[in-house]
Amino acid sequence: MRITYQDLERYRSNTIETARQIGLDEVVLEKLQDTELVVVPGDSGRLFYGNANYEHNRVRVYEQNPSRYLPKTFQEVWNQTGMDHELIGHLYNRYNGGRSDELAGVKTQLRFAAHRAKKDPYWALGLTIIPIIPVIKRVTNLAKDHLHHSNNG
Ligand SMILES: [Zn+2]
Repeated sequence: MRITYQDLERYRSNTIETARQIGLDEVVLEKLQDTELVVVPGDSGRLFYGNANYEHNRVRVYEQNPSRYLPKTFQEVWNQTGMDHELIGHLYNRYNGGRSDELAGVKTQLRFAAHRAKKDPYWALGLTIIPIIPVIKRVTNLAKDHLHHSNNG
């Protein structure tokens, strides 16, 4: 599928609705209603989805990503969880003064997916296809790089 701006609005609504059910801070969630959503032409490649910029309150999402190899229902799960990652994992956590790095993003994805899985069997299955392993690898590599740089002064 090619992601459109309307898709991003839909994912945002779902992310914020789930955040309310979980009991996140309403004042910070209001700020996410104003987050600029941008569709970026092309494929996300190793990024899986997109990125977030807290200074500009902006989320950019590539119009295509590796989910195109999945059945339609799981493409939705992939893209929804991607929005959870950017909007809550990075932006909300940053604005709320919490940890907002990649690990925080992944933890958010799992928390939100587990919440939806209580009512939706696709999300129970979706928990198994969320790109958690590559992300953990990426975080591990980042940590290694950091260590490497530290060791080199
Ligand atoms: Zn991220």
